[in-house]
Amino acid sequence: MMTPRVTMDLGKIEHNARTIVGLCRAHNIEVCGVTKATCGHPEVAEAMLRGGVSMIADSRLENIRRMKVAGANASFMLLRIPSLSIVDDVVDTVDVSLNSEVCVLEALSDAARSRGRVHDVILMVDLGDLREGVWPDELPSLVRAALELPGIRIKGLGTNLACFGGVVPSEENMQQLVALAREIEQASNLVPEWLSAINSSGLELIGAGKMPAGLNHARIGEAILLGRETTQRKPWPDTFQDAFVIHAEVLEVNSNPSRPLGERSEDAFGGLTQFEDRGDELRVLLNLGRADVDVQGLVPCEPGAVVLGASSDYLVVDVSAVAGPVHVGDELTFIPNYSALLSVMTSEYVTKCSL
Ligand SMILES: *Cc1c(COP(=O)(O)O)cnc(C)c1O
Repeated sequence: MMTPRVTMDLGKIEHNARTIVGLCRAHNIEVCGVTKATCGHPEVAEAMLRGGVSMIADSRLENIRRMKVAGANASFMLLRIPSLSIVDDVVDTVDVSLNSEVCVLEALSDAARSRGRVHDVILMVDLGDLREGVWPDELPSLVRAALELPGIRIKGLGTNLACFGGVVPSEENMQQLVALAREIEQASNLVPEWLSAINSSGLELIGAGKMPAGLNHARIGEAILLGRETTQRKPWPDTFQDAFVIHAEVLEVNSNPSRPLGERSEDAFGGLTQFEDRGDELRVLLNLGRADVDVQGLVPCEPGAVVLGASSDYLVVDVSAVAGPVHVGDELTFIPNYSALLSVMTSEYVTKCSL
């Protein structure tokens, strides 16, 4: 089989989705499945939908178009704040988008009106993570401005945590969104259908029964794809952590010294790695490199295997502690973290196979 390749166990993805959807449903939270780390892979979207997610969200219109062309029968949400230059495509391609700028809302409204349609939006507020969204005290004026625009409808209010600043969802910050929604309801008669505050970092709070009532929409990627909540990356109960496996092929097997010989300067990527002297090591060279994957996010499946480093096209792995011989032509496998999953699914050099 072709190497390098990533295998996607669709049954495991479906199972993970079912587990997360079940938890959220028990707390009156609807789950939207997030496919962006898989480059919007249509089969992954289908597996999530079979597992019970109510819709699919992705950060890229290209990904959403790919899933639609493949026949995914779902509604779609655009996760990344739309650039002003793509508002027409946004209105044509997705059912709902996340927004925070009045000028973009105006452009979306015009684009929707010119098509005789209304585009749904979730207005984003920043509760401390410092990525997208307006500051809480600016939300009422954003809502007022949006209510004036005939081509858009405010479907909900949202926030995103644990992505830029690593801010953990808490009863306090979640309650803050509920309180903002109440304030807006009183000031404007708008009752947002969705309060969408949760990604995979919110599962602990839900599981602990501490998610404030009223939060009713979650956008979940990593917990479904990799079976982990994201505040401490703990495996989530009754999910698989190995739905995605990366396979690379052994090109060379060598017994090498553990420290480079000769005068040393920067490596291929400007790094100055320190090498410990551990005597001779049995090392393999694999056909997987930084053009294929974020190599720092790889965990070897083979007990005893240790990733030593990588350049654009090679991965160097110490197999001294691996039981049994390793030969040229053998495959070694790795579990990706989120960053490695994103990069491997985006790389043109890596074959994607579904199981
Ligand atoms: C990526 C993303 C998510 C999904 O986050 P996970 O941690 O993978 O669950 C949710 N919301 C927004 C806005 C995102 O960009």
